[in-house]
Amino acid sequence: MATRLASVWGCRGSLPSPGEDTVRYGGNTSCVQVQTGDGVPVILDAGTGIKRLGAELASAERIHVLLTHLHLDHVEGLRFFEPLWRPTTEVHLWGPPSPVYTLRDRIARAFSPPLFPVDLGDIPATVVFHDVPEDTWELEGIRIQADHVSHPGSTVGYRLEQDGHTLAFIPDHEPVLGVALESLAAEWISGHALAAGADVLVHDCQFTESEYADRMGWGHSSVADAVSFARRAEVGQLVLFHHDPDRSDEGVDRLVERAGELWDGAGGAAPIAAFEGMSLEA
Ligand SMILES: [Zn+2]
Ligand SMILES: [Zn+2]
Repeated sequence: MATRLASVWGCRGSLPSPGEDTVRYGGNTSCVQVQTGDGVPVILDAGTGIKRLGAELASAERIHVLLTHLHLDHVEGLRFFEPLWRPTTEVHLWGPPSPVYTLRDRIARAFSPPLFPVDLGDIPATVVFHDVPEDTWELEGIRIQADHVSHPGSTVGYRLEQDGHTLAFIPDHEPVLGVALESLAAEWISGHALAAGADVLVHDCQFTESEYADRMGWGHSSVADAVSFARRAEVGQLVLFHHDPDRSDEGVDRLVERAGELWDGAGGAAPIAAFEGMSLEA
């Protein structure tokens, strides 16, 4: 029987994109809820998808939110995350370290006028900030590894191991930058250690191959690079994520089709695309 590893609450990249063209895959930005044995919520990213999730966590006394980075599409939903507005909740925010500003200082920008009327210090919940550890650590029964990956600004990806299953989450990632992934030694491929042998890899697939030609260095992957990366990491299931805000449902279908052609013969399951409400299973 399949084991549920996580649920998708938002899989759009860059900008929320509601509308009739995005109904099937959804318009909310990055947010994935990890399935935990003891019921303490562990959430990956706080894009706009976290708003609806927050409404379902009314009884949670302690919640962890693991941020990959501080680009707006990954923190945009935090201000409207209901648990932050309850004095009884303890919210732990984990994120990549920066040599310049603390995680609290960086998040405080989004919680201050003129962007928002309430200062971070006036949030009713108890908010605890953590730089992600350099070494693997345990959180609510999950073994977690965070590593820097190639993307503008301080950005990490996550590897989460629980009950013999591994989920890798690398929503914003440009692993190649002008070199062929096939020719690189594994230890030189950004993010490889996070994804190696994972049952499920949730990975950036913002661009088609022709779009990518004009967008090299923007920090995102083409469908070809997402597939090459997943093949090199020998994952069980590649899940395409961070859909471009201009990508219609039919456009995502075409990316899945293209990913299938590129995957052909690599073993494991054919690539699929993330959609809101999706259950990630191993
Ligand atoms: Zn993003
Ligand atoms: Zn980003």
